[in-house]
Amino acid sequence: MLKGKSAVVTGSTSGIGLGMAEALAGAGVNVMLNGLGDPDEIEKTRAELDGKYDAKVLFHGADMTKPDQIEDMIETARREFGQIDIMVNNAGIQHVAPVEEFPVEKWDAIVAIILSSAFHCSRLVFGEMKQRGWGRIINLASAHGLVASPYKSAYVSAKHGMLGLTKTLALEGAEHGVTVNAICPGYVLTPLVEAQIPDTAKARGISEEEVKRNVILEAQPTKEFVTTEQIGAMTVFLCRDEAAQINGASLPMDGGWTAK
Ligand code: NAD
Repeated sequence: MLKGKSAVVTGSTSGIGLGMAEALAGAGVNVMLNGLGDPDEIEKTRAELDGKYDAKVLFHGADMTKPDQIEDMIETARREFGQIDIMVNNAGIQHVAPVEEFPVEKWDAIVAIILSSAFHCSRLVFGEMKQRGWGRIINLASAHGLVASPYKSAYVSAKHGMLGLTKTLALEGAEHGVTVNAICPGYVLTPLVEAQIPDTAKARGISEEEVKRNVILEAQPTKEFVTTEQIGAMTVFLCRDEAAQINGASLPMDGGWTAK
């Protein structure tokens, strides 16, 4: 059903974005990977996906804080694939600090990478999607798009903003076959989260298992991490025709966190 369609997935050199890109490639969708990292590692990942699936997998290193680089990424994907049918806005970073100490440059970077890049990518693909009468925009938000935690002012604000963008564009695309939805995961065991475990264990004098269960997953009722495969499967489902009436939704995948 999705075979031959094309997608751009921002922030897909690791973690959730890579899981979404792999699921789309597995469904036969050509994918433009994007993100930062070691060029040799990225090329290895790209070549692996390209060889494993019946889909063309390319890479563009646009920095999501730079609108001109974002434009170049979209133009390159359009040139290489012929068209862009699916836009996945996933790139993101985190910074944790009390608001009175929050570095201004971190605020600017987080808002740019999470929220403004989703606006730029969406505005650059929306016209062609409307014209063809089919399109999917999937914004990878967070449980922190729905509820807050202290010391994450920029991240929580940007993720809440992403849900506003999702709803607005959903209304703009509704009569043109373009759906716009947000996935709101709880904790996913990606490099971003894994990196915090050993230090937290040491700082609290508890085991890494206890950190996962009682510290990180404290808010997540199932006490289990969401997996990148589960998010990948949701992404593919949202692209299918069966999901055509899911529009403007913020879909929690958080083990019940935001049900509390
Ligand atoms: P990650 O660090 O593994 O991946 C982040 C990706 O974004 C990487 O590919 C990185 O290179 C890319 N990126 C960062 N800055 C960039 C920039 N300036 N330009 C282009 N790419 C850039 O982290 P992850 O956990 O996979 O996070 C992916 C998304 O999921 C983020 O938006 C994050 O907020 C969100 N999220 C993560 C969790 C979690 O528990 N891990 C939960 C909810 C939401």
